[in-house]
Amino acid sequence: MSVTSLYLDNNATTAVDARVVEAMLVPLRESYGNPSSAHGFGEEAARLLESARASVARLVGARSPAEIVFTSGGTESINTAFQAALGSVAGKASRRVALTGATEHSAVLRALEGWQERGIELLLLPVEPDGTIRVEHVLERLTQLGDDLALLSLHWANNETGVLWPRAALAEIAAACRARGVRFHVDAVQVPGKEELRLDELGVDLASLSAHKFHGPKGVGALYVRAAGAPEPFPRLIAGGPQERERRGGTQNVPGIVGMGRAAELAAQHVADDEARGRVRGLRDRLEEGLLDAIPRARVNGGGAPRVDNTSNLVLPDVDGELLLMTLAAEGVAVSTGSACNAETRAPSHVLRAMGLADEEAASSIRLSLSRMTTAAEVEGALEVIPRVVAELRALAAV
Ligand code: PLP
Repeated sequence: MSVTSLYLDNNATTAVDARVVEAMLVPLRESYGNPSSAHGFGEEAARLLESARASVARLVGARSPAEIVFTSGGTESINTAFQAALGSVAGKASRRVALTGATEHSAVLRALEGWQERGIELLLLPVEPDGTIRVEHVLERLTQLGDDLALLSLHWANNETGVLWPRAALAEIAAACRARGVRFHVDAVQVPGKEELRLDELGVDLASLSAHKFHGPKGVGALYVRAAGAPEPFPRLIAGGPQERERRGGTQNVPGIVGMGRAAELAAQHVADDEARGRVRGLRDRLEEGLLDAIPRARVNGGGAPRVDNTSNLVLPDVDGELLLMTLAAEGVAVSTGSACNAETRAPSHVLRAMGLADEEAASSIRLSLSRMTTAAEVEGALEVIPRVVAELRALAAV
């Protein structure tokens, strides 16, 4: 049994809400039919599936539930979005370029690198030292690239720093993409439960979501595909049966999707509740300010930029982030050194490097991420343990 009792790694994944588990028991125990079957069992499963689709459509502010395609998670949604956007221009002389940011998630960067083998040129937008990209810079690139550009992909919120695009800037970029015939994909994986999405109003073409980032189960996600202007036929990533309006083959993961639907309702409720959101922001600020006060020379990465309510990424000079993470884990505090997905490579975070941090600074950074389930006691516990462990590690390193 793990000693971890204090969970501050919610950007990696979140606890499944008990109400989500409850909802998932229905298709697991009773309504086990295949939603494509033409009998009562199938109809019951299809009813649950469509009800979850409507809940996800409401969460993201889609015009219609038909704009939601269920997938196995954020990574599959992102790859499906690229297949749709780039598969529909394959073989054409123009539209040979894909543009994205330097601090995007590896799901975006690796997927687009894969498209280079299929003749797509990949260009990266650099970021400012606070992790933001200037909107004028994006608009300038759109003008320069003209008809060569097929796809722009930007993440709404960064998973390591929490740095967030203001809605107005994304709307301006979406309008410019529309005017130029460029498909615009937003990786919104870190947004549900933190900000309102209102995607139809925002004007993006495609947006990716993952249920386990907002108190839903793992292994299920969704791709929002704006009906107006969607490629027809839709180039599928996963060929197979006609499920998901021929946009993603394979029998749907009904229990997972039902869980995602319930999680979407709860995330929408949280975001609409100013007091609940303020509580998470207040806890994050208390944690961040407490650590800055108690740890000499600590700094916030992306501190000057707009950020989601729950994330704090700190440089703690002269402390090895990996050693700190492991020591904290042994003391029961779960944090991360950046993306959980990079934990295996142990390379310094490409996000922090792109923001201009030196390798040593990036390697001395930790990410703390809260959720609506985080308690004041957890924050106070972290404020007791983290400064003490940092002081101990610094003292050892100085010997
Ligand atoms: N995009 C962002 C911004 C993420 O934070 C993540 C997960 O960490 C993903 C994409 C990939 O999502 P999943 O791991 O659910 O496939």
